[in-house]
Amino acid sequence: MLGKATMTTQKPHEAEEDYFAKLEVEKKRKLAEKKHADLQTHEIEAMKEAHQMRCSGCGYQLEPFVFKGLSINKCFHCGGAFLSEEAFRRLCGEDNQFLNLIGEIFQFKK
Ligand SMILES: [Zn+2]
Repeated sequence: MLGKATMTTQKPHEAEEDYFAKLEVEKKRKLAEKKHADLQTHEIEAMKEAHQMRCSGCGYQLEPFVFKGLSINKCFHCGGAFLSEEAFRRLCGEDNQFLNLIGEIFQFKK
C-alpha cells in the first residue's frame, strides 16, 4: 500500500531521491539503535531530563497544545513544532499520499 503511492505519482528522479532518503533513514535508525543499546539506564534518564520539552532545532522550551485531540509541542523561538508519528498520521488522514510517502521513507510504525 505505501509503495503504490510512490510508484504512481512520482517522476523517476523523485523516486531515486526517495530511495536514497530511505537508505539514509535506515542507516541512521540502525546507528541510533546501537547507540541506545550502548547507553546505561542512568544516561538515558539524564538525557531525557536535559532535553524533554526542548526544541530540537534551537533548544528553547516547547509549549504544549492540544489540537483536534492531538498533542503538539510548539517552539515560539524558531517556529518549529513536534508531534508524534501517531498525531501526524491522524492530522493527515490515513489515506493521504503525502503521509504514505513520508511514512515509508521515515519508517513510521505500522
Ligand atoms: Zn526552536
